[in-house]
Amino acid sequence: MRETELIRKIRDIANQRGHPRWLRVGVGDDCAVMTPRRNRDLVFTSDYSIEGRHFTLTTHSAADIGHKALARSLSDLAAMGADPLFCLVSLAISANQNEAWIESLYKGLTRLGARFGIVLAGGDLAKGERITVDVMCCGDVPRGRALLRSGSQPGDDIFVTGELGAAAHGLVTKRGESWNRQKRPEPRVEVGRKLHRLAHAAIDLSDGLSLDLRRLCEESGVGARLGGELPIAKGATLEQALHGGEDYELLFTAAKRSRVPPQIAGIAVTRIGEVTNEVGKVSFKGRLLEPLGFDHFR
Ligand SMILES: [Mg+2]
Repeated sequence: MRETELIRKIRDIANQRGHPRWLRVGVGDDCAVMTPRRNRDLVFTSDYSIEGRHFTLTTHSAADIGHKALARSLSDLAAMGADPLFCLVSLAISANQNEAWIESLYKGLTRLGARFGIVLAGGDLAKGERITVDVMCCGDVPRGRALLRSGSQPGDDIFVTGELGAAAHGLVTKRGESWNRQKRPEPRVEVGRKLHRLAHAAIDLSDGLSLDLRRLCEESGVGARLGGELPIAKGATLEQALHGGEDYELLFTAAKRSRVPPQIAGIAVTRIGEVTNEVGKVSFKGRLLEPLGFDHFR
């Protein structure tokens, strides 16, 4: 298989659904070219997905890997309240992946992307020791309206979308709906799009509620008191809901007076506590909540 042929195939997959007008040049040239939309700020994020860390070849199909790699970055766009625009995908493969496997990865990725209007606009291909997928996503928000981690205010209510602990539970059981959630997370893009009017601050739950909430509190210079019932996924434990990673739900805070509906874009939204002025202190039902979520460098 020659690289030029492979790139032509990837270009076909990327262009299957046509280009939006603002993307002047997509896959195939040295760079992608886009014209930013008026009165919008661009937001960027990139995420690694690494064999043995985020997926394994025995448990995840190529399409699963493509889906999950993009979902991780889309979840970051959702947390900023952004509309997804385009992604660049840099893929390193080891010696064992054939052309069909590579195509399947891009198809899994673009199938998820099509649901949220994000276009594969370029990237890179290389051989490596292990499979590594680096997905850079660009989105945009109304000017000045990007939803930051730093905007929480004491007295805000704290909300999460969906259910917690499913991905951690799935990692243990390797079957059922929670395993599916672990392999193919659902980025809350549609919820995020509606949050930049409603919320003061948001973060996506990639590394676990306890750790990600701590990060948001640190950026905002606030504390948090969790009291209410957590929306725990079916079969998951309280520990998995508090500390399990990779749920990719959104956590956001909003002023008490703002009317946060029980569902946004069809996804349940649950109030789980409130923001306090005790800087850096996070408690759950009266006890200090240690940030035991997943920390890559601990
Ligand atoms: Mg994030």
